[in-house]
Amino acid sequence: MMKKSFQESIDKYLGRKYDRSSIGILKEKTLHSIVKDFFAPSEDSKEIRVGDFVADICYEDRIIEIQNGNFAHLVPKLEAFLPKYKVTVVYPIPYRKWMCWIDPETGEQTARNAPRGNFNLYKIFRDLYSIRKFLLHPGFTLILTCLEIEEYRVQDGWGRGGKRGSHRYDRIPLRLLDEIEIKGLEGYNRFLPDDLPDEFTTKEFQKLVKYRGKYFGTTVRVLEEIGMIERCGKRKQAYLFKKKYESGSAKEMPDNTKINNSKSAKTGNLLEDNNNKTENIKMAAKKAKVATKKAAPKKTTKVAATKSAAKTTKTTKTATKVANKVANKVANKEESVIDRFLRYVKYDTQSNEQTGTSPSTPGQHELAKVLAKELEEIGASDVYYDKEHCYVYATIPSTLGRKKAPVLGFISHMDTSDATSGKDVKPRIVEKYDGKDVILNEKDPETGAKVVLSPKTFPELLNHKGEDLIVTDGTTLLGADDKAGVAEIMTMASYLLKHPEVKHGKIRIAFTPDEEIGEGTKFFDIKKFGADFAYTVDGGKLGELEYECFNAAEVELIIHGRSVHPGDAKGKMLNATLIAYEFQSMLPAFDNPMYTEKKEGFFHLTLMKGTCEKAVVYYIIRDHDKKKFAERKKLVEKIVKFLNDKYGAGTVELTMEDSYYNMIEKLKPHMHLIENARKAMEMAGVTSIENPIRGGTDGAMLSFKGLPCPNLCTGGYNYHGKYEYASVQEMYKTVEILKNLAEIYGEKA
Ligand SMILES: [Zn+2]
Repeated sequence: MMKKSFQESIDKYLGRKYDRSSIGILKEKTLHSIVKDFFAPSEDSKEIRVGDFVADICYEDRIIEIQNGNFAHLVPKLEAFLPKYKVTVVYPIPYRKWMCWIDPETGEQTARNAPRGNFNLYKIFRDLYSIRKFLLHPGFTLILTCLEIEEYRVQDGWGRGGKRGSHRYDRIPLRLLDEIEIKGLEGYNRFLPDDLPDEFTTKEFQKLVKYRGKYFGTTVRVLEEIGMIERCGKRKQAYLFKKKYESGSAKEMPDNTKINNSKSAKTGNLLEDNNNKTENIKMAAKKAKVATKKAAPKKTTKVAATKSAAKTTKTTKTATKVANKVANKVANKEESVIDRFLRYVKYDTQSNEQTGTSPSTPGQHELAKVLAKELEEIGASDVYYDKEHCYVYATIPSTLGRKKAPVLGFISHMDTSDATSGKDVKPRIVEKYDGKDVILNEKDPETGAKVVLSPKTFPELLNHKGEDLIVTDGTTLLGADDKAGVAEIMTMASYLLKHPEVKHGKIRIAFTPDEEIGEGTKFFDIKKFGADFAYTVDGGKLGELEYECFNAAEVELIIHGRSVHPGDAKGKMLNATLIAYEFQSMLPAFDNPMYTEKKEGFFHLTLMKGTCEKAVVYYIIRDHDKKKFAERKKLVEKIVKFLNDKYGAGTVELTMEDSYYNMIEKLKPHMHLIENARKAMEMAGVTSIENPIRGGTDGAMLSFKGLPCPNLCTGGYNYHGKYEYASVQEMYKTVEILKNLAEIYGEKA
């Protein structure tokens, strides 16, 4: 059989070489048609009825199904086809993807963006999971076609520019990069990299193959179930695995269901490509390390530090005036915490969930560079800027005779929330706040309305009468979350380095990226950090001390319905969206964030999208109590089972994954962290406010990774929006609290 070129199939379906203006005439599922055409030996082998089903392609004793996602749909087909046919499932992989956006009003489309990073082939296991029992069937073959595609999406969702939750209009393949044929155990062997250690955890495996997405556990589970790997013990709470299958040991499989004889075993190039890249990245990281060592930080003198501090101050007139006034009083003419803060908020470090990179946005590097430089200038040692993942680490060495004191860490994050823009932040200081409305902006550029920070809406403003408040111009957030924390830690560091008479042990500092998108600890190097315990400085109100948080899990339900003409639907139709409603109706009505507080847990519906054919539903589960948390997850499983029993196996696909756990469990052996924080606050004349967090923190993640880490206040309020503000006096107090902690732990030498 002659092998046709992939381009021929493309040309056939687009009628002509694709050009931008043709978007109007394209129909959905272009990708599907083109791939189908590529694999079909002739027109009359397409869309063939086989028993109760229609096969995409059928000829001789072969069936080929093209399937992108929704593999649960395949289950009944595979059950019917496999006893009689050799079945090949072709999975078109968007290996490299360009996004184009269509304005739903005008139909205009944007120029395509730069291509997304390469598709990680381990992602396919999320889909393979539902057909895992067929993977080793002797008649079953999987082919991954790795493609370059353009994806067109309509900006009809929500969030900035309607991009989140938007719907896909079409996908156009541009080029076939590789075909990977996977058959039998030997076929899956390519997913076990050569440098996989003898024993490994899911996390280690994930890291090794540079998998950035969620649910890598599913990959491991499929590989385990088909017998590529097996459990061999536990390390702490994580299962340990080892290879079970050895290459070459498999029994001869029956004749492969070759699609095209001319296609040789050209398999796995792209996978190797991925692994090579891992190598390259490792090499680059090593090089960077060496380079940093060579350019060893010179001990900077006090004079140099003061000079640079003076040089870098560049803020609005009022801001500088007020800041200097207070600063002179407090900090010996060195740059004040307020000056620093006003400088840091000028960097746009908004993180972004959508980019899939680490850090998620390049702006965070800008601030990281500045902080690393300043740390060197103020004389910190071991300053290390992780250029790859955007973390900054540094040490304040212990003072004389305090070497044996425990190593104390302070951590804050450099990124700002993706809910509101952090670009061109124009902070302003309201001196001696009088308790009245503060007009942030006479005219909102979007709505034209006045933007007012009012105690009517935010009554706690009245607690700040007489204080100086840093506010926004009503168009952006402020960034006190968490640049207040960054500025406070920097100021403490600078103070301690200049005042050796204040005794303390070794102190470690870290600034992290991407906290707001839940990835702040992803590449945090706890070992390198080397602290015995630490505090995150990422809370709000002065006095806040947080050491309890939720246990958290995420739930994804994909519900498959059956769409039939409504006039003829009796006994045939299955409405996926109504099944989603049914699921919700079986959850306890009051266990909802709308009706819960304090230590009450909940199920929170975060997204529901659906048609008759398919519904996608997301929930988050939260509970402080470990046992109740487990019960909530069990309930979800039980309902899913009930629905699948009722409507047929595979109707509801459930993916549930824990996100983080209540840190109290890990802090209990270190309650001195809480007691000493109270004491440090008392010394500063502040009473601690201790409430369980109804959320999570980076500290919770770090606590579970082995670095006990409660959370401290910063003096910032109304986070993640344009009404964000910070109290100048509370920020000074926070610096004092940090210094007190340094001294308290220094006494433990
Ligand atoms: Zn924060």
